[in-house]
Amino acid sequence: MNKTVKLSDSVYHMYESNGVYCTLIIGSEKALLVDSGFGCSDLPERVSTLTDKPLMVLNTHGHFDHIQANSFFSSVLIHKDDVPLLSKNNSILYKLAFYLLYLSKSSNADKKRYLKTITLRKPKIAYIQDGDVIDLGTIAITVVGTPGHTKGSVCLLDPVNHFVYSGDTVSNHVWICLKESMSVQTYMESLEKLLPLMDDSYQIVSAHSDVPLRTVVIGNMIRCCGNIDVRKSTAYIHPFCKKSFLYCEGLEPLMAQYGVRSFEELFDKIDIIDKDVFRNGEFVSVVYRKDKLR
Ligand SMILES: [Zn+2]
Repeated sequence: MNKTVKLSDSVYHMYESNGVYCTLIIGSEKALLVDSGFGCSDLPERVSTLTDKPLMVLNTHGHFDHIQANSFFSSVLIHKDDVPLLSKNNSILYKLAFYLLYLSKSSNADKKRYLKTITLRKPKIAYIQDGDVIDLGTIAITVVGTPGHTKGSVCLLDPVNHFVYSGDTVSNHVWICLKESMSVQTYMESLEKLLPLMDDSYQIVSAHSDVPLRTVVIGNMIRCCGNIDVRKSTAYIHPFCKKSFLYCEGLEPLMAQYGVRSFEELFDKIDIIDKDVFRNGEFVSVVYRKDKLR
């Protein structure tokens, strides 16, 4: 796997571990690292080889797979509504639980690095909110509050590179089923707010996708959420998603072309499916709980 992908002269999309990507944006005066991942890769070293500019670190939200390497930096930016989530996922108890759940097959070096995040001093926290501008010199990044996946989720608008850094908010597969998730309606309203802020030249840099997505994914996800039909949904089994259901759109063409009959089969065959299917939002899915539909 190519661990660092150069998306433009000033943007690097960096594979961290366990299916998570972080993004480095380098302006003329400062650099911004969007999310810090699982904490068990050489991400901090890779960042330091790409830039010697003063570095800011921002968490798009407080989930464990976006924050763990915060400990390698002195301070982080996050929306205040996700600070309780950040604190919970940073606690020793949760860190050990994630270790047992996710890292059993990791290399000893990865395990060692992850465990080091427990012993390091926690970074200082500074708040960001909707409308804030993060000035990197040649690039001014605007924070867009996009509650839904979590209450304090944010997206970042980069008008120089025409990218939106979306964390987990924009993806082909979004979870609105967690205790900390808002309602599906709130999530849709966030996407409806985000979409007019860009034109078709923009691309979405998402935390679980190696390739940028086209803006059409946002429109298709809004439609998918608006169309959620409990009768056409299937039970979604995952330790973090209690009493959850999956609703998806765009599975039929994949059935004809790749013989994929379910979301689980799509997941198994994901490496052989044309990436444009995901880039163009031809397949979108949402995991929800019935109480999030009200
Ligand atoms: Zn998340």
